[in-house]
Amino acid sequence: MKRKKLSTVIISALMTLTIATSLVGCGEKSTADDSAITFKAGTYEATAKGHNADLKLSVTVDETSIKEINILEHNESPGISDPAFDKVPSEIIDTQSVNVDTISGATVSSMAIITAVTEALKQSGVDIDALNKRAESNEVAVEDIEKTTDVLVIGAGGAGMAAAVTAHQNGAEVLIIEKMGKVGGNTMISGTAYNAADPIRQSAQGIEDSPEKHYEQTLSGGDNLGNPELVKVLTDNAYSGIEWLESLGMQFKDEVFTVLGGLWPRAHKPVLPLGTGYFEQAYMPYLEENNVEVMLETKATELIVEDGKVVGVMAEGSKGNKVTIKANNGVILATGGFGANVEMRQEYDGIWGTLDNSIGTTNHPGATGDGVVMAEAIGAELVGMDKIQLLPMGDPETGSLTGNIEQGVEDRIFINKEGNRFVDEGERRDVMTKALFEQTDDFMWIVVDQHSYPTGDTKNNFNETIDELVEAGRAYKADTLEELAEMMGVDKDNFINAVNKFNEAVDGAEDEFGRTLFANKIDTAPFYAASRKPTVHHTMGGVKINTNAEVVNTDGNVISGLFAAGEVTGGIHGSNRLGGNALADITVFGRIAGENAAKAK
Ligand code: ADP
Repeated sequence: MKRKKLSTVIISALMTLTIATSLVGCGEKSTADDSAITFKAGTYEATAKGHNADLKLSVTVDETSIKEINILEHNESPGISDPAFDKVPSEIIDTQSVNVDTISGATVSSMAIITAVTEALKQSGVDIDALNKRAESNEVAVEDIEKTTDVLVIGAGGAGMAAAVTAHQNGAEVLIIEKMGKVGGNTMISGTAYNAADPIRQSAQGIEDSPEKHYEQTLSGGDNLGNPELVKVLTDNAYSGIEWLESLGMQFKDEVFTVLGGLWPRAHKPVLPLGTGYFEQAYMPYLEENNVEVMLETKATELIVEDGKVVGVMAEGSKGNKVTIKANNGVILATGGFGANVEMRQEYDGIWGTLDNSIGTTNHPGATGDGVVMAEAIGAELVGMDKIQLLPMGDPETGSLTGNIEQGVEDRIFINKEGNRFVDEGERRDVMTKALFEQTDDFMWIVVDQHSYPTGDTKNNFNETIDELVEAGRAYKADTLEELAEMMGVDKDNFINAVNKFNEAVDGAEDEFGRTLFANKIDTAPFYAASRKPTVHHTMGGVKINTNAEVVNTDGNVISGLFAAGEVTGGIHGSNRLGGNALADITVFGRIAGENAAKAK
């Protein structure tokens, strides 16, 4: 499917989270020779190619300086590009130069801003080289930083945030370092399904469930390779994790659903889109109210060990400066997995044969396995490193989950290039992805109907309306199944037959692939289809922990002072993680790590 280029103004609901960055600067800053630097005062507009479409901005200058930068239009990825919008324009105004750093993880968006500002400034007649040279001569040396805290959390994703807040709630002074220019990690960009057996919501929906059933499914869904003790902790505490998040101000919807590969309707969805609820309603307000510092663009490089105890970390600051942080009580590794690190994927993969660059990832760019490497270097045991999870749900071009039109498992089918179904779409993630790899070009269509999108402005799980996706050429919409088959380029008879058989199964006939999760038939226009390919999603392996979230070394002993939570850890999900279990995992073990680190001495 060809993605349509967007040249008109696109302000989706999500974009309102990030758009309208307007920065005003003083711009009075130079001691160098300014004679070559004169602007024709005014406001100039320019565009540059962004990640998904052109980015348009305006730059306002007076005779001597850059005054204001306004982002006018863009279609950059929410969550990922936010730090570029937050930082690059302000850096340009602060330094009065376009020779500024790009933001790691948001390089394309940063470059688009820098290019467009440069083009706009050229219209003002200023000498760009002179501008940049003056800024260079103004540069001051950055200083090394040394700090001490009680609990140091490395990584500001979901696990790190749960750990930091809990450590603080348990009386510790807490500091968080994050290598990217923003908080959020994978939680921020995920569909945010959180599994928990819920006595209230599930009862209201007539769904039978229990922590025991969740435990059994988690263990068997990972081929009984997960550590049963850790799985028990996860499933017994998943619901109290929801209650704790609610106590911090986070809101979840009343209805639970079955997420892709979740096997059971126990996934909780936040009220706010994507992972924004975690950060905007719960974590950031808490950290701000309690003056807990998050040091962004600060990358941990090495754990400091003294007398066998982890006492801190060496890190690199945003300007390459040395950062040393000592932790009186403990260090919590919450650095996530290595789904975005192709080298590590290739080194460890024991399931797929190759996970090279030809396979995309749903992960944020910071998921590079740093914590695993740092912990291994000081003797931590690694477990399950060969177990890497793929989803059959990647955007064919980027691997990202955006553009995924499934709402839940029950209402959608997968169709291959020949127009046939090929798998039980309620199966485990590894089973479905393996089946997809057997299909022509490893390619499939998700097909849904009006039941999933009652109106054009109904959103998918990634905050995109179906109308936007159709408009952008990322989904097809048709009044009849025949028409949809034509748009998809699949055999019409096969396709109609596949849908008919599926509908019969919804009515109670035995499904040809053994599917058991159904809700509505696919029988009501409009019908929709969107293309998908396999994509790397989760690394089940990582640092070995015990039920206290303490890191265990290769001799089986606890490494004093070192705790870990979230995707950096291994051994919980076995060979295949259930959909919806990651958010439960990072919240439950983040809290345990936070509490125990706070209490450690
Ligand atoms: P989890 O789901 O376990 O919280 P995420 O990948 O969502 O994992 O979050 C991990 C966070 O840790 C990300 O924000 C990532 O950028 C950050 N991170 C990874 N490596 C480092 C590092 N070396 N130093 C500081 N932060 C890091």
